[in-house]
Amino acid sequence: MTALAARIAGLIRETGPMTIADYMQTCLSDSEHGYYATRNPFGASGDFVTAPEVSQMFGELIGLAIAQSWMDQGAPGHFNLVELGPGRGTLMADLLRATARVPGFHDAAGIHLVETSPTLRALQTQNIPMELTHHDALNSVPAAPIFLIANEFFDALPIRQFIRDGDGWRERVVGLANDQLTFGLTDKTQRPDLSHRLDDTRDGDLVEVCLKAQNIAAEIGKRLDASGGVALLFDYGDWRSLGDTFQALREHTSLSPLEAPGLSDLTAHVDFEAIATAASPAQHARLTPQGVFLERLGIVERARALAGNLNGDALDQHIAAHRRLTHPDEMGTLFKVMALYPQDAPIPPGVMA
Ligand code: SAH
Repeated sequence: MTALAARIAGLIRETGPMTIADYMQTCLSDSEHGYYATRNPFGASGDFVTAPEVSQMFGELIGLAIAQSWMDQGAPGHFNLVELGPGRGTLMADLLRATARVPGFHDAAGIHLVETSPTLRALQTQNIPMELTHHDALNSVPAAPIFLIANEFFDALPIRQFIRDGDGWRERVVGLANDQLTFGLTDKTQRPDLSHRLDDTRDGDLVEVCLKAQNIAAEIGKRLDASGGVALLFDYGDWRSLGDTFQALREHTSLSPLEAPGLSDLTAHVDFEAIATAASPAQHARLTPQGVFLERLGIVERARALAGNLNGDALDQHIAAHRRLTHPDEMGTLFKVMALYPQDAPIPPGVMA
C-alpha cells in the first residue's frame, strides 16, 4: 500500500466512501503525496509523453496560430498569454520562439501560467526565457484579452461517474473491502443535472461529469466575451462522454486507478460538449482532430524544413515524431482541439468551421 493509499483508507473508514472526483483530486494534488505535487512525470523517463515533448513543431505551430488570431482581432496592444497546466513549460517556450518575429506580439503579451505544483512551477520558470506570473487558478489573471492554450490539462481534472438505473443514477465511489480500496455504487438518486442524458443512455450506461472543467470553461467564455481573444484546448476525448474512461498510467503502462494512488497519473477523457456549452456565449469551432489541425497549419512544410538540417538517428527520430503527432494510429485522431472565440471574431486558423 502506498502512503497515500493508507491515508485514503483512513479517511474512508472515518467518513465513508468518496466520490471518484475526491479520490482523483487527492491522488493528483495532495500537497505531500500527490502525483503532480511531487514529481516531474514527463518525458521518456517519466510516465507519459505529451505532444509538446514529442516535437518542437507542436508549440511552434500553435504559436503561429495564436499570433494570427491576435492579428485577426486587431493586434490588441496589451493581452494575457495564458497557459493552463504548462507541465515543463516546453509548449510555451516553443510558442515564444516561433512568435519572436511577429511585430509587437511579445511586447503586448503578459505571460500568465496557471499551475498548482511547486515542482512544475520551478521547471517552468527555468525553461521559459521571459518574465511570467504564476496563478493557482484562472480567476486571478487580470482582465484583458486572453489568448489561452491548454494541452492535456482538462483530462487531469477530477470527474464524477454515474451509472444509469431506470430514471435515476447511481454514483460510482471508492470504498473499502477487506482493507483494500475498491469501487462501489451509491443508492439510486435523481439528478436533474443529468436529465439530458436520459435521452441518449440506457440502463447500465456510465456517464462522466467534470464540474471543474465546466467552471473553468465558463470563466474562459466570460473573458472571451468581455475582452476578446481565443482559447485552444487540446486533449483526448470526444464531443460527448459515454462509458468509463477513468484510467491510470505509470511508467508508460496502464494499471487500475486504485492500485498505486499518488504514484500513477490519473486521467479521464474530456467531454468537449460540456466545455463548449459552459463557455457560451463564446462560440466554438468544430471539434478538430489534432492531426488535421497541425496539417492545416503546415506541419508537413515545417517538418521538411527541419529535416533538411538532420541526418542519421536524429532524422529518424524527427520523422517518427511527425508521425506520432499527426497519424490517426498515434495521437492524430484520439487527440482533439477545441477552439473557443468571441461571437464577432473570425474563426482561428487550423480548426474546422
Ligand atoms: N501541458 C503540459 C502538461 C500536462 S500535465 C504538457 O502538455 O506537457 C497536466 C498539468 O496540469 C501539470 O502541469 C499539472 O501540474 C497541472 N494541473 C493539474 N491539475 C491542475 C489544477 N487543478 N490547477 C492547475 N494546474 C493543474
